[in-house]
Parts: sequence; C-alpha cells; structure tokens
Amino acid sequence: MDIDLKSLASRLRGSVKVNSDRPQDYFNYIYPKIFTKNQEYFSNFSSEELLKVVLYVYSLKTTGDFKKAEDIFENLAFMIAFSTDDQVVSVDCNNCGGQGREDCDECSGSGNEECSDCDGSGNITCSECGGDGKSSDETDEEGNPEDCDFCDGEGQVECDNCGGDGRVDCRECDGTGGINCDYCDGEGEFEDEDLNFVYIYNIISWNPSLNDRAEIVEATKESLVPNLETLLEMDDVVVVQPTETREEEISEDYVDDEIYVYEYTDSPEIVPYNQHRTLNFRLKFPFQNFKNFIYM
Ligand SMILES: [Zn+2]
Ligand SMILES: [Zn+2]
Ligand SMILES: [Zn+2]
Ligand SMILES: [Zn+2]
Repeated sequence: MDIDLKSLASRLRGSVKVNSDRPQDYFNYIYPKIFTKNQEYFSNFSSEELLKVVLYVYSLKTTGDFKKAEDIFENLAFMIAFSTDDQVVSVDCNNCGGQGREDCDECSGSGNEECSDCDGSGNITCSECGGDGKSSDETDEEGNPEDCDFCDGEGQVECDNCGGDGRVDCRECDGTGGINCDYCDGEGEFEDEDLNFVYIYNIISWNPSLNDRAEIVEATKESLVPNLETLLEMDDVVVVQPTETREEEISEDYVDDEIYVYEYTDSPEIVPYNQHRTLNFRLKFPFQNFKNFIYM
C-alpha cells in the first residue's frame, strides 16, 4: 500500500497549491480541499494512510523525494492536548428566550386594565343629580322635576378617567403589555463566568524535545507549552484543528491558554476513521475520562 500512497502523493502534488516549508500548511490545505471534497474516494483510506499521503506530498514539495516523510514516520508521536479559556460568555436568558421582556402579569400582556373609577362600565353616576336624572331645582308646569341638564336625564355621565372606554393603560407596564424580564433584568442574556471553554487539539509531532516533554507531562497539571502559538511556530509539529467544548467548573490548576497533554503516545495505533474532516488517530476519544480529568 505504501507504494500506492507514494504514487497518489505524486499525482496530488500538482493540485496542492501550497508554497511553504511548514507541514501545518499542507494539513490545513489537503484535509479540507482534497480529502473532504473527495470524501467518497478517500473514505477507503485509514487515518494512517491519509496522514502518510499528506506527509509524502509535503516531502515531495519541499525536497523532491520521500526521504523527509520517511524520517518523520520514524519519530512520529501523537498527543491529545487541551487548553482552557475562561473568557466571559453570554448565554441567552431561558425565561424570556433572549428577548429581555416578558408579559406583564397585571394585564396579561394586553397593556390595559379595567378603569377603577367606573369599574369598567365607561360611565359614572352623575354628580349633579346623584343618579336619578332629575334636576333638584327646576320643575315643569305640573311641578315635576325637570331632567337633569348635566346628564340629560340619564343619571350617568361618561367617565373622565377612561374617556368612556372602561379601560385604561396598565400602570404596571405603562400600557406596553411587557415588563423587563425578572431573571435577566431586561438584558436578554447573562454573563456566565462559571462557563469555561476547553479547546481540544490532536497534535502530531516529530520534534524530539517536545515529545520528551510530552511524555513527562502526560496526564499531569504541568503544561507542555505556554500557548498554542508556540506549537504553531514549530516546523515539526502539526496541530489538527481544535474541537471546542464548553464546560463548567474546570479545575483551577490549569492556566488559561497553556497547553496540557491528556494523552501521549509514540507508538500510535492509528484506527480507521470514516469522517476525516479532522484527523483522529488512536481515538475513540475517551471523553468521559477526559472530563473527569479536567474537573479534578
Ligand atoms: Zn430574561
Ligand atoms: Zn400591564
Ligand atoms: Zn372609567
Ligand atoms: Zn345628572
């Protein structure tokens, strides 16, 4: 199969538009642009074979032969590493669905309430006649009281308070029907300071001192390097695109941005992996154990 991989790499060489000495750039190009785009064809390849194809292309493009790649295979080590980042994260308020507003309890969201002056009828008793509709001082020829001028004999007049509608703006919400959400004070979201980001990296390295260090710090709270940039600057290291997860209550022993090694091996069992948008070596990612580890 190695021979086939080499001839495949030779054929791919021309379509890999990378002018760089850095293997990282070849991974960043070949995985999305060649492997993922031709998924049907490359799904027959194991992760190990895909890794070899990339390194063969890298070797060909930089030195013109396969020697460089073969040296790399001799020293190859794999790591699962992670970093943490407790940047403040905003999360939508569940209570109001992120709107910041909820229906006013007082008016059930209608924005109005019954007028208390007229109990919702729109009319109040005429103060002039006390409601009987008759004038107190004017009488007709037969001595009967005239109709009250004020209410035209109705005994009732339109309520001033509500203009006869019987309803007024809700005082609780000023007629808007909504009030600021109690839970988020109208913000619609919370800043959740307990939420931490964890970035998980698959790292391929043939840098002897990095690999030695990784072996020592594997599964400890001592970091491998102070930050991701340090790894990305190395020419004999490839960092496969990080997976981002959000966790809570991560152990405080981890310093933000520093890279910690969860698992290290220099004798990888590279297992076949069907969706190689990321390169998964030796995984089955033992996620439950990983969680226990970062919480400790
Ligand atoms: Zn809310
Ligand atoms: Zn209201
Ligand atoms: Zn009224
Ligand atoms: Zn009246």
